[in-house]
Amino acid sequence: MDKVISVSFGEVALKGQNRYFFENKLVRNIKNIAKGMGQTKVYKEQSKIYIEVEEEYEEELIKRLRRVFGIVNISPSYRIEKNIDDIKESSLKILEEIRSRRDIKTFKVAANRADKRFQPNSVELAKEVGAYILNNSEGLTVDVHNPDIYVYIDIRSNCYIYTDKIKAFGGLPVGTNGKGLLLLSGGIDSPVAGFMIAKRGVQISAVHYHSYPFTSERAEEKVKTLAEILTNYCGKIKLYSVNLLNIQKEINEKCPEDEMTIISRRFMMRIAEKIAMKEEIDALITGESLGQVASQTIKGIHVTNSSVSLPVLRPLIGMDKVEITEISKEIGTFETSILPFEDCCTVFLPKHPVTRPKLEDIEESEKVLDVKKLVEDAIDKMEVYEMRP
Ligand code: ATP
Ligand code: MG
Repeated sequence: MDKVISVSFGEVALKGQNRYFFENKLVRNIKNIAKGMGQTKVYKEQSKIYIEVEEEYEEELIKRLRRVFGIVNISPSYRIEKNIDDIKESSLKILEEIRSRRDIKTFKVAANRADKRFQPNSVELAKEVGAYILNNSEGLTVDVHNPDIYVYIDIRSNCYIYTDKIKAFGGLPVGTNGKGLLLLSGGIDSPVAGFMIAKRGVQISAVHYHSYPFTSERAEEKVKTLAEILTNYCGKIKLYSVNLLNIQKEINEKCPEDEMTIISRRFMMRIAEKIAMKEEIDALITGESLGQVASQTIKGIHVTNSSVSLPVLRPLIGMDKVEITEISKEIGTFETSILPFEDCCTVFLPKHPVTRPKLEDIEESEKVLDVKKLVEDAIDKMEVYEMRP
């Protein structure tokens, strides 16, 4: 019996012709997270992926696999010979080993054949193995509806036996669905937005706007930490850090006070788009959620959106704060997001921001600004960080 970790992927397996592309990408992503963990071997066997890993790294590897998009379930498994006697004996042995650590009274055998040439068929196989376990153990009964433990038998090129299915996030392997540039603030929402789009297979880069020295270095560190947490799911992230202070000062001086937020938001979008074009990124991503704050009304979003032509993905648009917060806790960004450092938007916060801005009015107000130059200057001075898991 060799120990391996088996990985199943739901949606990926359904992708028709593209299947190999998705599967191979997933294998590559798994190899990447397994780097530095001793001798590992990753291989495919009929639409499942298996990983041989040294025992001491097993736990850490499973922890990392849970954050790899595309994976639905992870099972610590035993690989054995594909013959009925071995299957019976190994199933019993595995079950007894678990019983020595845990109280188990009922079980059920569930069999599956990817190799249909194997005889007996899965129903018969489950019955035979179940009967063998019953006859050779004490104090165990079968419960087909709600057993304490399942013994899964999976017939492929080899036979695999496992008893546990650890849930992962599903989705699609990062890198199979283009690139997106996340507008990453220090708040709760935008890291969640990045997570959700990465889960659809998109490779993420991020841009953050600060107003240094009005905003502190610690605020900047906080955003780096958020990006770093995201790398656990998204792989490496290029983080662009842009000082918006000059632009904010210009707007503050020359535009109506109540339009401050919406106009700075349009600059954020323009700068992001410019970076995206340069880096061959095809979409922007924000953490906007409808109605959450003044700039996130439908009219506000229309005006912000009109400053760019790239698609803007807003995965949180229909979610409320409670749902978003739950995800941020689950993915581990919440504790960092709530650290109380100032955001660039709070530096020139208008007392009464416009909630129903008109595009013509905003465009009129912006005429006094040298938009192109302001954008270029900000990009010239930006800093770039490579964040890694
Ligand atoms: P978040 O929790 O993500 O900060 P929010 O509820 O505070 O969102 P806003 O401040 O209106 O909402 O920001 C809306 C979106 O605009 C953010 O989700 C983010 O994508 C982008 N954004 C806001 N501020 C910044 C910033 N300083 N740097 C980069 N992007 C930003
Ligand atoms: Mg914010």
